Amino acid sequence: MQTRKVRNLASVFLISYASIAFSAQPHWDHSEQSTWWAIEDTSQEIPLRYPFAECGVGKHQSPIDLAAANMNNTKSLNNLAVSYPTDVSSFFNSGHGVQVNTSVGYTGALKIGEESFPLIQYHFHEPSEHVVDGKKFPAELHFVHINDDGRIIVLAAAMDVGEANATFQTILDNMPSQEGEQNADSGIQLDPASLLPELDHQNLGFYTFAGSLTTPPCSEGVQWYLLPETITISASQLEQLKGFYSNNSRLPQQVNGRAILSTQ
Ligand SMILES: [Zn+2]
Repeated sequence: MQTRKVRNLASVFLISYASIAFSAQPHWDHSEQSTWWAIEDTSQEIPLRYPFAECGVGKHQSPIDLAAANMNNTKSLNNLAVSYPTDVSSFFNSGHGVQVNTSVGYTGALKIGEESFPLIQYHFHEPSEHVVDGKKFPAELHFVHINDDGRIIVLAAAMDVGEANATFQTILDNMPSQEGEQNADSGIQLDPASLLPELDHQNLGFYTFAGSLTTPPCSEGVQWYLLPETITISASQLEQLKGFYSNNSRLPQQVNGRAILSTQ
């Protein structure tokens, strides 16, 4: 387990602070996702020569088509609550997506039962990665959390076209256009919770399942929480998002007998 935790920690460090990721990771792109596993780091010997091998050999990869998994809503599950106070965040064009990095010392967290998982960053995929009832949504939001043990929790929400979201607009308007650039000096206060549907944020319904990071190195041991309700953004906001990144989504992966636990 320790190895996995350390590896997960390294992954989140990479996806959170991608200026480091650019030097530490070989180049990858969503257009070549079927062969991520084969990408070589030519500076390393085997097995380190294939840093993204898990993308190909992993059995609990993300995303998934929820319809392909067994749904179980009979178990009693821990309460899920978000506590995301406003934050002077950084707007980060990661080279793979539009991302917001929370500030150092940010106290925002996802609470699962008695456990707390600090919010490190959040980002967007276009179209959605998870498939629900055979349907892909226009986009998907991922809140990435990691605790001191290196455990990763992603809270995901599908995004549909409808009413505009003001916080999403602030993110788009302050996002650097250059890949790898970070806008850390805006001083703008962001309220991450205002991206979520208007629900009881202290008691959210959800689907939960075991999975992985959806980008290289595709590390497993990630627990996913997917909201049944969608967020809305306007058609022009979706177009603006596509202006940064389009088709930055991984295709659904084999379920391999995984079950989905649900409060629904
Ligand atoms: Zn993601």
